[in-house]
Amino acid sequence: MTSGEGAPETGSGVPDAAVGPLARLLDVQDHDTVVDQLRHRRATLPERAELADVDRRLGALEARTKEVRVERDEFGDRQAALEQQIGASRGRRDTLEKRMYGGQVVAARELQAMNEEVKHLARHIDELEDREIEVMESLEPLDGELQAGEVTRDALDKDAQRLRAAIDTAERALDAEIAEQTRARAAAASGVRSELLARYEQLRSKLGGTGAARLAGASCSGCHLTLSSMELDRVRKAPPDAVITCEQCGRILVH
Ligand SMILES: [Zn+2]
Repeated sequence: MTSGEGAPETGSGVPDAAVGPLARLLDVQDHDTVVDQLRHRRATLPERAELADVDRRLGALEARTKEVRVERDEFGDRQAALEQQIGASRGRRDTLEKRMYGGQVVAARELQAMNEEVKHLARHIDELEDREIEVMESLEPLDGELQAGEVTRDALDKDAQRLRAAIDTAERALDAEIAEQTRARAAAASGVRSELLARYEQLRSKLGGTGAARLAGASCSGCHLTLSSMELDRVRKAPPDAVITCEQCGRILVH
């Protein structure tokens, strides 16, 4: 970061006798402006907004995953119950068939009744199997969604990790710049009277960060308005250390 054009060089921070307090005040202003810009950049890093978006998507995905799992588990329980019923019916049918073809039962009426029950069991098993297929068809998209959700979550986790690292790096770099500017600002401020500095601070907080402005040609660089020729004359004839304020914006005008 460089101090603005025309700003006096304070070099190592040792006050230069040839540089007036007002020029030093402008130097303070330049450093303050740079620090404000750096802080703004720190607060509004694009990665911060991106990370907030990733976190929001992760939150939504987690909520949806919970819902799908509940639904999936309900169908899973139904499938398990159906399989149990199918197993029991098949077991009963196998037992009957073994007895029917084992030769122990010879009474025609009994065989007839057993045959009826086997037929009934076969229909019942078909029906249970149809219901199980329906349940499995409902499970399939839910399992698919859960699997896809895992892939998405892994990708989002990676994005979040990358963004956090990028924010960390940017913050470190900006903090180093802010520290450097703050040191340079303190060196410049040491050459400014405390009353003038206090007045500057007050104006700066009231006027959007700019308390001192240069006279650039015939305009105030704080409000960009042109001074009247009378006002200009007054400014130019004033002693170099006289504190003059812009009539339009009230900022300390440095000429
Ligand atoms: Zn002004």
